Amino acid sequence: MRRLRKVKILATLGPASNTEATIEELARAGADVFRINMSHASHDLLHETMAKIRKVEKAVKRPIGVLVDLQGPKLRVGKFNTGSVQLATGDVITLDTDTSEGNKTRVHLPHPEIFEAIEKGHKLLLDDGKIELRCIKKTADKIECEVVHGGKLSDRKGVSLPDTLLGVGALTDKDRADLLAALDAKADWVALSFVQRPEDIIDVRKTVQGRAGILAKIEKPQAIERLEEIIKLSDAIMIARGDLGVEMPLETVPGLQKRMIRMARQQGKPVVVATQMLESMIEAPVPTRAEVSDVATAVYEGADAVMLSAESAAGDFPVQAVSTMNRIAVAVEQDGLYQSIIRRQNIEPEATAADAISASARQVAETLDLAAIVTYTSSGSTGIRAARERPEKPIVALSPKLATVRRLSLVWGLHCVRTDDAVNLDDVVDRACSIAYREGFARPGDRVAITAGVPLGTPGATNMLRIAFVGQDGVGSS
Ligand code: PGA
Ligand code: MN
Repeated sequence: MRRLRKVKILATLGPASNTEATIEELARAGADVFRINMSHASHDLLHETMAKIRKVEKAVKRPIGVLVDLQGPKLRVGKFNTGSVQLATGDVITLDTDTSEGNKTRVHLPHPEIFEAIEKGHKLLLDDGKIELRCIKKTADKIECEVVHGGKLSDRKGVSLPDTLLGVGALTDKDRADLLAALDAKADWVALSFVQRPEDIIDVRKTVQGRAGILAKIEKPQAIERLEEIIKLSDAIMIARGDLGVEMPLETVPGLQKRMIRMARQQGKPVVVATQMLESMIEAPVPTRAEVSDVATAVYEGADAVMLSAESAAGDFPVQAVSTMNRIAVAVEQDGLYQSIIRRQNIEPEATAADAISASARQVAETLDLAAIVTYTSSGSTGIRAARERPEKPIVALSPKLATVRRLSLVWGLHCVRTDDAVNLDDVVDRACSIAYREGFARPGDRVAITAGVPLGTPGATNMLRIAFVGQDGVGSS
């Protein structure tokens, strides 16, 4: 199953889609990676869904990536004795450590870390930003707030603190348990929500130990302040526009999106654009023009992947949402302006053999109009560097490791195939040509560029660029 686009599609699974039959339909319609959201999934459901995805992977004969998304420190207020209260602008309400039900003048805030970190003047956004409070006085167990924008506040609504750096790591106790379950289930990627600082990634890496890629969800202003370092320490990032748009002024999100995509592409880290991309398709079989334009913008910017949330997890048209996204992506990439827009961000190779060879492979493939670039990549890192070049020609990434080809399914432009290590240089050429032929990337008489490392099978040794002819039935010859 060959895709006709370079950008990848990440589809969230949920009640509308987590049967084996629908997962297969989504994969065939264009989903390359599935997200399991631990805010809504039990460990049993995680394992069951994973088993279904792996069955579908066999059926569609193509590696599928699985991203397990950890909920993170989602903060909430306690309950009210009446279920909700109406707060008017100018009112004063106190958030405290008293666990009894609240009223118009006070409510429980079950997060001790907020009492430690908040300062007078800091903003509190409740219920996705619909209500705004400002801290006017703070003691060890009380936060007195003035209501800046009023509204109806009901039980257990979310709290965001854009001004406050919380003294908690990225993982709650629930996240730690979910992370172990995700690793146990052999997730290819784990996503960390509400990352605040680079140390959050370092901390999680100690537990993960290379068993999954670590994706940092950028949805806090504190993370924006230290973006460069966070990207450096992560294996990928997500532009999590849902919470980012609550914690930052909404109108700054498009600019931040462009900045993040550029910074991630520069560093060669996969970047996912997420949330509300085809929001109206939760209830309708066609998207709005604005949504089509939003997906297209992410594709023109060269994002690695575009994501569906409720559209595929809980909407009425999950398969149509994926096929719509697929059609938009294909159309953008075939547009005459696409290549020049992608190219305009001049990304220079770094001074490494893998980068120099990847840049050369792109140039050779384009100059000689080759059918494809075939890249041997054991750990996946050369595959990612080849994709960083954003070549016009398709890239076929070969690895002996199933974990590598699955993880790389998130990366721009990589068509991933698991194959054993080549045994000698003839085999390097034969294997590359026959796979390019078999997967529909080259016909007899075409030529491909091949990158590999000698000695064969040594991770990180990419040092070779070959041009080879694809013969009859895909047999390779130099
Ligand atoms: P969520 O993350 O769907 O887990 O909240 C994405 C976002 O905030 O945009
Ligand atoms: Mn979020």
